[in-house]
Amino acid sequence: MVIGKVLTVDDLFEQGYDAVYISSGAGLPRFMNIPGEGLKGVYSANEYLTRINLMKAYQEGSKTPILRSRRVAVVGGGNVAMDAARSARRLGAETVYIVYRRGMEELPARKEEVEHAIEEGIVFKTLTNPVEVLGDENGYVKGLRCVEMKLGEPDESGRRRPVEVEGSEFTLDVDSMIVSVGTSPNPLLRQTTPGLNTDRRGCIVTDGVNGQTSREGVFAGGDAVTGAATVILAMGAGKQAAKAIDDYIRNKQ
Ligand SMILES: Cc1cc2nc3c(=O)[nH]c(=O)nc-3n(C[C@H](O)[C@H](O)[C@H](O)COP(=O)(O)OP(=O)(O)OC[C@H]3O[C@@H](n4cnc5c(N)ncnc54)[C@H](O)[C@@H]3O)c2cc1C
Repeated sequence: MVIGKVLTVDDLFEQGYDAVYISSGAGLPRFMNIPGEGLKGVYSANEYLTRINLMKAYQEGSKTPILRSRRVAVVGGGNVAMDAARSARRLGAETVYIVYRRGMEELPARKEEVEHAIEEGIVFKTLTNPVEVLGDENGYVKGLRCVEMKLGEPDESGRRRPVEVEGSEFTLDVDSMIVSVGTSPNPLLRQTTPGLNTDRRGCIVTDGVNGQTSREGVFAGGDAVTGAATVILAMGAGKQAAKAIDDYIRNKQ
């Protein structure tokens, strides 16, 4: 094993591997691209949860600290947003908002997750969209400027499109914002693997059955192919690809 050198897929073939399986996930967080997202107290949900759970930031004296927030806005309405909101609450935040641009009916999180969040006192600010994070003189978050939304005509996803209500601006009094509006595959692999086809979301394109990609001998599965999905789908893709890779190597000339 080589330590300290970044290996590309082609390096692996040069080292004598017959096939490569890519399962690098979809761990690159998306942000809102609004002013103030560089302020202290703004986290992606992935960073926030990684700090708490893996790096043990919940413990006093942890080497990986996290702000002990008083009032938190979690932007997004999926399962990861619910995880982040409930974690913030358990870390001691007095008020935690879920800020979501559509309504309660449209929340993408599982119903149980939403119910559990409500039980833990999370406040749902639906039909609300952030437009700017406000900072104090020391560069810390001191508020979130938002606008109210209403639901218009259905968009290409079939869901009703949220439309801004004119003149509805208001400020949420928060000291932290956790952005949970989705993740995408890290671009590294598609940039370093010539001939590997990806779609417009940056997901690796496969045959949808065996995990076969556009490159011979290169298979892929899990979130890197589907975008952020579930453990069970990633495990299933791994099993199917394992069989296909076995067939491929056995039949290779
Ligand atoms: C906060 C959160 C909560 C979730 N909760 C649930 C849940 O309750 N139930 C559920 O089913 N799913 C849940 N999911 C989704 C689930 O975690 C993923 O769908 C699943 O882990 C995808 O598996 P994967 O193997 O494709 O990718 P991952 O599990 O993301 O694994 C990818 C691995 O590849 C590594 N990697 C990335 N790039 C490279 C590279 N260039 N070289 C080498 N290694 C690389 C990464 O470090 C990582 O270890 C959750 C996700 C998140 C973020």
